[in-house]
Amino acid sequence: MSVSQVAGFRREGTEWISESSGTRWIPVIGLEVHAQLRTMTKLFCGCANRFGASPNSLTCSVCTGQPGTLPVLNCDALELAVRAALAIGAEVAPTSKFDRKNYFYCDVPKNYQITQYDMPYCSGGSITVPSGRTVRLNRIHMEEDAGKSVHDQGDSTLVDLNRAGVPLIESVTEADLDNAEDAAAYLSALREILIYTGVSNADMEKGEMRCDVNISVHPVGAPWRTKVEIKNLNSISNVVASIEHEIPRQIAAWEGVGPDPVQETRLFDAEKGTTRTMRSKEGEADYRYFPDPDLPPLTASPAFIEEQRAALPELPGARRARYQAEMGLSAYDAGVLTAARDVADFFEAAARLSGRPKEAANWISNEILRALSDDEYEAQLIDELPLKPFDLADLIGLVDKGTLHMSGARQVLRQMMKSGKAAGELVIELGLEQVQDDEQLEAWCAEALVGREAVIEQVRGGKTKAVGSLMGAVMQASAGKANPQKVREILLRLIGTAE
Ligand SMILES: [Zn+2]
Repeated sequence: MSVSQVAGFRREGTEWISESSGTRWIPVIGLEVHAQLRTMTKLFCGCANRFGASPNSLTCSVCTGQPGTLPVLNCDALELAVRAALAIGAEVAPTSKFDRKNYFYCDVPKNYQITQYDMPYCSGGSITVPSGRTVRLNRIHMEEDAGKSVHDQGDSTLVDLNRAGVPLIESVTEADLDNAEDAAAYLSALREILIYTGVSNADMEKGEMRCDVNISVHPVGAPWRTKVEIKNLNSISNVVASIEHEIPRQIAAWEGVGPDPVQETRLFDAEKGTTRTMRSKEGEADYRYFPDPDLPPLTASPAFIEEQRAALPELPGARRARYQAEMGLSAYDAGVLTAARDVADFFEAAARLSGRPKEAANWISNEILRALSDDEYEAQLIDELPLKPFDLADLIGLVDKGTLHMSGARQVLRQMMKSGKAAGELVIELGLEQVQDDEQLEAWCAEALVGREAVIEQVRGGKTKAVGSLMGAVMQASAGKANPQKVREILLRLIGTAE
């Protein structure tokens, strides 16, 4: 990500230097991320946890806050929450509790949200981003999501409670960040971990992962100043854009352009690329937190924690390192293949079955992943393709044995991705089997030499590269079926130049 130029500022590393005053400013940034847990049901009732259902169809007396109902904890949510903690090296508290955060809003039917206040289930942990910076986490706590207010209906606001009571984890970093690039890298890494571990789908477009940015600026060496919260950012690019907007806005305010920044919550307007005041920030006292009397303390025994640790898959960072060290892949290829767990699993199976990890990596990153973003194929995920890892291994084997040339193999792959037919079957069906028959190959080669004396002279003169144009003629004559390696050998032999 490139550093954008902002009028009135010069940037050196992470410092913003005001051109008018010459003051060097340092941003201080912390991130709070809400992620919905991938459970079948909500946190405290049996309603389905599903996106996209018709409004208020996934509700019951508990999640609509009817009097007399009692919450019952969904143990699956606790399991996933603990896995998230373990995946970032955090500590799981043996005992934690649920609290009520009281506030009145139309999408919070109980008039309070069940969350964890002073005794979260998880503390510590960290994520290191590619720049080398380690971002420490302060805590992760569990809570229930609120419903959704829909404001785009003219004068009225509609409320959909399908999301009310959906399990969330909220992870809070220390203020370890000072630039938008590292903030983006942290969010990508966290998202990757959540998806890999099956903790969350973390689809930001669906609101399954949302980010709040806490940000302040201060002159180098001076104490930290008032922080501002930017709420509910629904994409990593919006996080970047809001930080890049907010830093110069705050500096300009401190330097006398407009009033000093106050502690407040702001909203990011993605269209304008600016932030605006949403409300002055409530102090914690305003929420009158107290322990939820309907829920017993939450306990996590060492055996339970170990069970969750055992259920964790190998994490993307570890996989990337292994692909480079053991399979000889480049850092770039390892990154592409581990970006999604299903792709990494597909790659590992194909690499094992074919014994050719580099070829498997090339086919997947150059052909298969590209095809998945293409409308021509119905599948959007590698797991949805009729092509399976052993099919790819077969194809790699056919190329390896010389039965198929590369362009033919690409044709076969495209058909396999549509029909799921075996590679061998398609080679015959499409008439792509390479011609290995020496007599036929020699006839094509001899024909290619006719009238090309100039090229022949070049080759005789030591320019063996020139043989390429002759090979092209043979490939054309054979409709691409001639085995190129053999063709090359035969051409050089006929010209009388052995390599
Ligand atoms: Zn319910």
